[in-house]
Amino acid sequence: MNVITHIAVQHAIIRLLAAIAILASGPSQALADRFADQRRQMVEQQIRARGITDARVLAAMASVPRHLFVPPHLWDVAYRDTPLPIGHDQTISQPYIVALMSQSLAVQPGDRVLEIGTGSGYQAAVLAQMGLSVFSIEIVPQLGRQAKTSLQPLGYDGIHLKIGDGYQGWPEHAPFEAIIVTCAPTRVPEPLKAQLAEGGRMVIPVGKRHFQQLVLLTKKRGRIEQEKIVDVRFVPMVDERGRVY
Ligand code: SAH
Repeated sequence: MNVITHIAVQHAIIRLLAAIAILASGPSQALADRFADQRRQMVEQQIRARGITDARVLAAMASVPRHLFVPPHLWDVAYRDTPLPIGHDQTISQPYIVALMSQSLAVQPGDRVLEIGTGSGYQAAVLAQMGLSVFSIEIVPQLGRQAKTSLQPLGYDGIHLKIGDGYQGWPEHAPFEAIIVTCAPTRVPEPLKAQLAEGGRMVIPVGKRHFQQLVLLTKKRGRIEQEKIVDVRFVPMVDERGRVY
């Protein structure tokens, strides 16, 4: 082996060891990348400045690489104050809405959370980074598979993903301390109410296309209380034939 090849091989080994060291240090460390500054700015200007105070939400959103959940041609705009297309007529939610919904759940590490509408997998990653045990259902098979491909290399392989109709919830794993719904039905699905644990919270957009409210439901002594959070616009919750619930 000549000297130049020898040096090149040494460099390759050093790069490989550095990559292994970063990966071995866990999900959040593996995320050091060229978007770290944009991510910090997103958290400060779009999220903290608008009144989100939950430290676990802020830390998770400063850590999860949002760009890896959108198509590569959108990486440069991934941290903007807007939803973005992820294919199949679906969108990844605006960062502020992800933060607001995550904070509204008022969860503790170790709590079990059910998400309806995996989409890109970004919201699921944020919840996992907050220390939650995440169960997420997506109705479009290609999106469910793509989310799995995005989540696994980042170390979020503890997230339970399922392809199917989330209207029915996931009774085998119920009850859930928290339920987050990221597609909008016209009424809150009864199976989801039933699968909420005592004291649990559900955040869900409800209403017709263009006229939806994000509401917070709390189960207290078996009864559901409801309060409005804000007006929103989500994609509709549909059944397997595409009919809106
Ligand atoms: N939370 C996502 C955003 C999802 S957009 C993210 O972080 O990227 C809403 C998603 O809900 C879409 O992917 C849509 O296909 C899905 N969806 C619509 N109806 C559904 C249903 N009945 N069950 C499960 N997912 C559904």
